[in-house]
Amino acid sequence: MRIPFDNSYATLPDGFFTRLDPTPVKEPKLLAWNDDLAASLEIEGGDAKTRAQVFGGNQVPAGAAPLAQLYAGHQFGNFNPQLGDGRAILLGEVVDSVGKRRDIQLKGSGPTPYSRMGDGRAWVGPVLREYLISEAMHALGVPTTRALAAVATGEPILRESGPLPGAIVTRVAASHLRVGTFQVFAHRGETEALKTLTDYAIARHYPDAEGPLDLLRAVCAAQAELVAQWMSFGFIHGVMNTDNCSISGETIDYGPCAFMDAFHQGRVFSSIDRQGRYAYGNQPQIVVWNMAQLATSLLQQMDDKETAVEDATEIVHDLPELVEAAWLRRFAAKLGISNPRPEDVDLINELLSLMQTDGSDFTNTFRALGTDQARDHFTNGDAFDAWAENWRSRIKDEPDPQAVMQAANPAVIPRNHRIEQMIEAAVAGDMAPFERLMTALATPFEETDPELQRPPTEDEIVPATFCGT
Ligand code: AMP
Ligand code: MG
Repeated sequence: MRIPFDNSYATLPDGFFTRLDPTPVKEPKLLAWNDDLAASLEIEGGDAKTRAQVFGGNQVPAGAAPLAQLYAGHQFGNFNPQLGDGRAILLGEVVDSVGKRRDIQLKGSGPTPYSRMGDGRAWVGPVLREYLISEAMHALGVPTTRALAAVATGEPILRESGPLPGAIVTRVAASHLRVGTFQVFAHRGETEALKTLTDYAIARHYPDAEGPLDLLRAVCAAQAELVAQWMSFGFIHGVMNTDNCSISGETIDYGPCAFMDAFHQGRVFSSIDRQGRYAYGNQPQIVVWNMAQLATSLLQQMDDKETAVEDATEIVHDLPELVEAAWLRRFAAKLGISNPRPEDVDLINELLSLMQTDGSDFTNTFRALGTDQARDHFTNGDAFDAWAENWRSRIKDEPDPQAVMQAANPAVIPRNHRIEQMIEAAVAGDMAPFERLMTALATPFEETDPELQRPPTEDEIVPATFCGT
């Protein structure tokens, strides 16, 4: 197998990472492989066995410069001065077929100096969950890391529930630079490293940015768009810690994330998010909080602190408005409106409030708008009718509301109960449910597999998700 590595992170100063190889595993077996992504990365050759060896961590491919990255982060609001890749190894980077630089990283590949108490491993559940949801997000048009391979290790790993089958996911990302990467050097007062990192991030992601403040502005804009997209698809990330907040603006780190079935602003899936810090409706505020942390870190390198603080404060203060605008654009599209007006916010919120009261399915209700079935998603049909009358008069002058809605409201999302069923089957050696979901989710705006559009029945509901770490 040939991977056209072209590594840049590995040329940064030593303090940025620790070089080490993945820890070999007993019996690597390829569970999933992303042909299209491999082709776009210009990876050539290699049969299933070789892929399992390489992406199971047993064989370091030519040109790789394996390393674990250092970073810090606020976890649920508390600062941890040192995190880092505790169970991930960056093999290296490739420049893909459209000229974009991409990280290739193994996750679950064994302990590193940053593992703390962890075993450096992952089990097949979270691995397939990340694989499937990240690819589904990509198909929905949401910026995201992608999945190249899933490999079973043939080794059991121990979790609270007992031994589970180990696995490794190969993740492809615009980069793995996070807010936490800036925080680690800022916290340590390593100004030179912070400057190097800033220059690197600008060159890699925002080449037009002139200096730290411009970088902050660009990341804020990207994060505003990202969270608006999450909201518009009912996606709940679940662990929006600053170490899981990407500088590139991609969705990163699919842990206890999930898509909502019944709509509720306060919806939480993650079993560890007891206070609901990362609940669905809190996500826009958390993005602002995370960007404030990035601003604080970036400021450490500024000479003219007073003006810099003023400028950075202004950028962060402007962010809620940016998020609101992106949110309005996305939700207006869900109603068939391509030219939103400020008063559309009320129209959208009125619908969401009816949905919340009635526990309407988020995805299917929006999908049904404009059809005779829409009313069926509400227990209070009269209230919906009243809303719909306003809505119809609002979209009268819109050029093509049906087309706009079709493109904004997916038919199929990776519903949590389907993911759980898929994982259960995979553990028992049956990958058919995984394949079925992957096929339907590749074209989420088409109705190719109606059964997968169905919300969970009472006893199918999977109310909570686990980090699986
Ligand atoms: P996460 O919440 O998954 O983003 O992880 C937070 C931190 O914990 C990161 O530094 C991870 O590398 C580390 N971590 C998570 N799970 C493990 C594990 N099983 N072994 C070692 N480190 C881990
Ligand atoms: Mg993480």
